[in-house]
Amino acid sequence: MHKDLESILISRDEIAAKVAELGRQISADYEGQDLLAICVLKGAIIFTADLIRHLTVNVTVDSIAVSSYGKSTHTSGVVRFLKDLDESVEGRHLLVIEDIIDTGLTLKYLTENLRSRNPKSLKICTLLDKPSRRQVDLQPDYCGFSIPDKFVVGYGLDFAERYRQLPDVGVLKPEAYRLQ
Ligand code: 5GP
Repeated sequence: MHKDLESILISRDEIAAKVAELGRQISADYEGQDLLAICVLKGAIIFTADLIRHLTVNVTVDSIAVSSYGKSTHTSGVVRFLKDLDESVEGRHLLVIEDIIDTGLTLKYLTENLRSRNPKSLKICTLLDKPSRRQVDLQPDYCGFSIPDKFVVGYGLDFAERYRQLPDVGVLKPEAYRLQ
């Protein structure tokens, strides 16, 4: 385990099994259809890379970036577009792939924006969900794990841009926040 982690919440093996299961479910639901997978940068890069390799339907991948927490562990409620999609979404089946839903503010804003561009359908797939923290009405269509209100890193999730490369999802030690 990395020295800055207090504990491992979800192991790499548990993640791999769940990602494969989600891939099977999504492939069955979209059978015979083309899918546009939208990776929400940067946290969802590893999840997206693993998930799309379990999809048996035709899939193209695009990415979008919105502002997140910066160096703080608390949401500001301010959502900004940092990078837009490269492709048009009109008339297409969209699957927005997110690392974690916390207050829900980011995805609420993002999905409302995407819906205004007239896709054929839009669903949300998140690896992690913290339902106890929700401030807006937003439910993922596909969810890997519901987790308690703890700040987690690893498997794409960062703190101040660090720890994304850790293979497991873990809880940071309090002193790791203070040192940065
Ligand atoms: P929301 O708008 O739902 O409050 O926040 C979603 C974003 O906040 C996520 O995409 C992620 O960037 C960040 N976030 C929320 N909870 C955590 C967490 O426990 N760990 C990390 N690393 N980021 C989080």
